[in-house]
Amino acid sequence: MYEEIAKALLLWYKENRRSLPWRDDPSPYHVWVSEIMLQQTRVEAVKEYYRRFMDRFPDIETLAAADEDECRKVWEGLGYYSRVRNMKRAAASIVEEYGGKMPVTSAALKRLPGIGPYTSAAIASIAFGERIPAVDGNLLRVFARLALYEKEIRGREALSAAAAYFQEVMDSMPSEEGVLPKDRYFFAGNTVCACPGDINQALMDLGAMVCIPGSRPLCGQCPLRDHCLAFRNGRCSDIPVMPPKKTRRIEKRTVLIIRDGERIVLRHRPEKGLLAGMYEFPNEDGWLTEEEALEKARQYGFSPVRILPLPEAKHVFTHLEWRMRGYEIRVGDFDEMKKETGRVTDRTKEKSDSCFAVTISQMLKQYAVPNAFDAFFSSEAE
Ligand code: SF4
Repeated sequence: MYEEIAKALLLWYKENRRSLPWRDDPSPYHVWVSEIMLQQTRVEAVKEYYRRFMDRFPDIETLAAADEDECRKVWEGLGYYSRVRNMKRAAASIVEEYGGKMPVTSAALKRLPGIGPYTSAAIASIAFGERIPAVDGNLLRVFARLALYEKEIRGREALSAAAAYFQEVMDSMPSEEGVLPKDRYFFAGNTVCACPGDINQALMDLGAMVCIPGSRPLCGQCPLRDHCLAFRNGRCSDIPVMPPKKTRRIEKRTVLIIRDGERIVLRHRPEKGLLAGMYEFPNEDGWLTEEEALEKARQYGFSPVRILPLPEAKHVFTHLEWRMRGYEIRVGDFDEMKKETGRVTDRTKEKSDSCFAVTISQMLKQYAVPNAFDAFFSSEAE
C-alpha cells in the first residue's frame, strides 16, 4: 500500500506541483529561508518577502555579516521576528563552524538556532535527499485522514504517528542505482524520478490544494482516494480531530504617537520576550485617560501642547491579544527640548530603551516597527 501511495503521490505532483521561486533553485539556503518564512504565513504572501530577502541577503555569508536591525527591517511585515534573528545567528554558526556550507543531515541542522524538527527535515530531504518526513500541519491533516487517526492531532504522539506513516511511504520506494543523489527514487513506465523531498513537497501541496482544512476536502481530485480510510468510511468531514482552541490572554494597552512638526518618537523594545529588539511607538499597560497619557508624555521628558484620541485597534498574537487605544500627542520642537532637558536624542548606534525621535522617512527606511502598531501609524500618516 505504501508504495502505491508514493507512486500515486509523485505522479500527481509531477502534474500539479505549485511553481514557487524557491523550488526553481532548491539550494539548501533557499529551502531554509523559504521554510522559515512559510511558518505562519501564506505561500502567496511569502513570495514577495522571499524575493526581497534574497535581493538583500543572497547567500549565507551576507546574512551572517548583516546588521540585526537591517535583518528585522527586511523581515518587516512577516511577524515572529525571533525567526530572522535566529536565522542570522544560525548563518554566523554556519560560517564559523561549517565554512559557510550548510550541514547536510537533519541531525546537524537541528543543532542550529531556530531550526527545529520540521525545518531540519524539510531542508535535509529537499536539498540533500535524506529520507525523512517533514511533518507540518498539512502532513498531519493528510495523515490523519489517510490513516483514520481518531485522536487529537497535537503533540508528540500525533507527530510521531504521522512521521512513522510517511517514513513507510518514503522507504517503500526503490532507489535506482546510479541515479544521484543516491536516495533518488525512480520508476520507469511512468518516468518519475524524485527524491524524498519531493514526497514531502507533494504532501505539502496535496494538503494545501486538495486535502484542505475544514470539513470539505476535495476528495474527487485526490490521487490517494483509493488508499484513504477517512474517505472509505465517510469520515472526511470530521477527521482530523482538532484540539480545542486555546483562549488568548487579553491585554489592554495605550499607544502614544508623540511628534513635533517633522519627527515621531520611537522606543527600542527589550532584546528578550515579545517582539524582542523591535522598535515601537511608546505604549503603556492599561487604557489611559487623556490626562494620564499627557502625564506619561511628560514623564518621558516631553512638553505636550495638544492631544488627540485615535481610533481603537486590536492585534492578535498567538496566545495574546492587544486591545489598544491611542493618542496623538503634539509636542514642541524636539531640538529645543533636547537643549533644555537633554532627554530626546537622535538614534545613535548604542542600544537603549529610551525614546528617540526620527523623521517618518527615516523610520520607514531603517526601523522595523511591528505591524501591531499599523493602525496607529496609518492614523498618524493621514
Ligand atoms: Fe484527503 Fe479526501 Fe484525499 Fe482522503 S481522499 S486524503 S480526505 S482529499
